[in-house]
Amino acid sequence: MKILVINAGSSSIKYQLYEMPQGTVIAKGNLERIGEEMGKLTHQYDSQEYTTETPVADHEIGMAFILETLVSEKAGAVIKDIAEIQAVGHRVVHGGDEFSGSNIIDDNVLASIEKFADLAPLHNPPNLTGIRAAQHKLPKATQVACFDTAFHASIPEVAYMYALPYELYEKYRVRRYGFHGTSHRYVARRAAELMKKGKYDVNLITCHLGNGCSMAAVKNGKSVDTSMGLTPLEGLVMGTRSGDFDPAILFYLASKGYDIKDLNTLCNKKSGLLGISGESNDMRNLTEKAAQGDKRAQLAIDIFCYRVKKYIGTYTAVLGRLDAVVFTGGIGENATAARAAICSDMPQIGIELDQKLNDTVLRREGLISSDNSDVAVYVIPTNEEGAIAADTYELTK
Ligand code: ADP
Repeated sequence: MKILVINAGSSSIKYQLYEMPQGTVIAKGNLERIGEEMGKLTHQYDSQEYTTETPVADHEIGMAFILETLVSEKAGAVIKDIAEIQAVGHRVVHGGDEFSGSNIIDDNVLASIEKFADLAPLHNPPNLTGIRAAQHKLPKATQVACFDTAFHASIPEVAYMYALPYELYEKYRVRRYGFHGTSHRYVARRAAELMKKGKYDVNLITCHLGNGCSMAAVKNGKSVDTSMGLTPLEGLVMGTRSGDFDPAILFYLASKGYDIKDLNTLCNKKSGLLGISGESNDMRNLTEKAAQGDKRAQLAIDIFCYRVKKYIGTYTAVLGRLDAVVFTGGIGENATAARAAICSDMPQIGIELDQKLNDTVLRREGLISSDNSDVAVYVIPTNEEGAIAADTYELTK
C-alpha cells in the first residue's frame, strides 16, 4: 500500500511516500517558500535528487505540484498514477485533550483541529490547509491525522494542571499538553525492543533534542509527564526558545515598555541558545565557537545541558524506577559532547556513559552507557514520518 506522509508548515510542505507495510521510503521531499515569489521543490528518490523552482501561490497548488512530481518522468516517476496513493498521514501539532492516538479524519476531527488552532496558531492552520488540499486532490484516499500531543494524553491531572486559578482550565483549557509525542513514542517503543522488553514494561526518560527540545517521563510505556506545556515554549533550552523561566520576568519587562508582541518574539525567537550566545541557535556552530574560546557560546551549551540534566533528576523522582535514558533529535543523535556533559556525575541516578561508545554512536542507533551503568543510555534516531506511516497503515488496512 502506498502511503503519503505530509507535514505542512506555514510556508512549506514536507512529504514522504512509503510502501507499507515494508516501511520503505519510495521518495521524499520538501516544497518550500509557498506564497513567496518563487517556490522551491527538492525531491529525492533512488538516491537521486531533483530540484526545481516555480511560483507556488498556496498549499492547494503546492499539493498538486507535489503529486505531479511523484508521477513526473523528470523526477523519476516513482508512481504511475496518483490514485495509487491509498492513504495520507498528516502531522498535526495540536489535538488538545481530545485525541489519545491517530485518527481517520472526518468532519469532527477537522472541527477539533480548527478548535485547537488558537492554542497552536503557527501550526494547526497550515496543518489544516494541508489536509484540505490532500482531500481535494486525493478524494478517494483515507486521510489520517497524527497528533504531536496524542502520546501525552496519558499524563495524569497532577502533572498536567498548572497552579493557576482552576477556572482558566475550565474556560480556556489552560493545561499542559506536551508535543513531539510521535517522536517520544517512537523512540520509547524502539528502546523497549532493544531492551527485549514489552512496550508497556519499561520506564524511560526520552530526550528529543533538536531545534525544539522536549523530554518525557515514560512509565510502563506511557507518557506521565513532559517538559513542554500549553505551547512548545516551556521546559528545556531550545534553539531560539527560552524554556522555563520566572514568569514575573514578563511583568518586569512589560513595566520597561515591552508589549505582548515583543515578549512573544523575545521568548520564542530570540532566546535559548541564540539568546544566550548572541550568535547562533545551532549547536554545531556553538560547539565550534566554544572550542575557539568563545565564552558565551560555551555558556549557552552549559545552560542547555544543565537543564536537561535537571529534568533527568526530576523525572527519575517521578518514575521511581528508571530503566533507560534515550537521546534523539539533531542534538541528541549527534552532539557527543553535550550527551557526555548531560550524563556526567550522575552516579546517584545510576547513569555512567562509556566515553568510547558515546564518541562513536553518531546518527545511528546504539547503546552508549557502560557495563557498570544501572540505567541504560541509548541513542535512537527519531523517525516521526515512519511512525505516521505506520499509524496510517494500521488505520487504513
Ligand atoms: P528540528 O527540530 O528542526 O527537526 P533537528 O532535529 O535537525 O532540528 O536538530 C537541529 C539541531 O541539531 C541543531 O542545533 C544542530 O546544530 C544540531 N546538530 C546537527 N548535527 C550536529 C552535530 N554533528 N553536532 C552537534 N549538533 C548537531
